Amino acid sequence: MLVCEPAAIAVGSSESSVGFERERELSMPGLPAREAGRIRKAGRMSAKPGMQPLAGLPLEARSRIVGVLADIDDTITSEGRLTAAAYTALERLHAAGIKVIPVTGRPAGWCDHIARMWPVDAVVGENGAFWMRYDAQAGRLKTVFVGHPPADRQARIETLAAEILAAVPGCALASDQFCRIADLAIDFCEDVAPLPAAAVDAIVQRMEAAGMRAKVSSIHVNGWFGDYDKLSTTQRLLAEEFGIALENATQREHWIFVGDSPNDVPMFGFFPNSVGVANVLDFVDRLEAKPAWITSARSGAGFVELAEALLAARHAGDAHRGNP
Ligand SMILES: [Mg+2]
Repeated sequence: MLVCEPAAIAVGSSESSVGFERERELSMPGLPAREAGRIRKAGRMSAKPGMQPLAGLPLEARSRIVGVLADIDDTITSEGRLTAAAYTALERLHAAGIKVIPVTGRPAGWCDHIARMWPVDAVVGENGAFWMRYDAQAGRLKTVFVGHPPADRQARIETLAAEILAAVPGCALASDQFCRIADLAIDFCEDVAPLPAAAVDAIVQRMEAAGMRAKVSSIHVNGWFGDYDKLSTTQRLLAEEFGIALENATQREHWIFVGDSPNDVPMFGFFPNSVGVANVLDFVDRLEAKPAWITSARSGAGFVELAEALLAARHAGDAHRGNP
């Protein structure tokens, strides 16, 4: 989301015209000079290698991918919309036999719809509070909650929400809060004017002081009671539903994660083939772990770019094996 840059997104913005000319001379294939410059700068800030253009991910590594784990907001969607191109990319991945699993901070009410109607194999929601999987043969939606919430969870969420709304001017209860079961979502950029980084930090601090874990997405601050996150629940989902042990480094290389925000950091740090859509650079100062690869396009167009790279590798493998 172009207008939402709470992390004081200065990366690249202060480069001089002389600097741009130098970056242009060293331009990365397939990347506009400005994006290439931002990626280089981010790479210099990283403690370990990462943030390389996706075009550099070898065909052989792409051909090994059997599943795509994907954040939704500003990763699959673009400025709050699910484009036809991004949905088609989901369909094409699924049809090619590549497992597709959204891993999102969005609520249970949304995930019920996603698990039933989107071309996906499962969905992780509310930052790991549960997963849902629709069994088409049985005609049944399976939901598995993780963690052991306090008995007074809803009362504590309502009390804290009122405190935060009173203390941080401009924020609001997320419009999808009524669809949520496990977490509190405070809007700082979706239906309200974007708030500065200090306001986002204040929301996080109040959630943590109340005993919650808190993560920042591109639009909300989410808080919850429980020792889980996107990664831990994804690991349980893949183990229990698909028999895949992500602790095994070889199996881990067969999966790819794509995201855009600080709440994706546990996933960025875990998967050797993690991918950031280009707008992840908006949050680069807040990323304790950075994605290994980065698309040239932002948001949903970046997701389409990744899907096409994977499908091209799959197609090349089929052609090599003599399959049509
Ligand atoms: Mg996101």
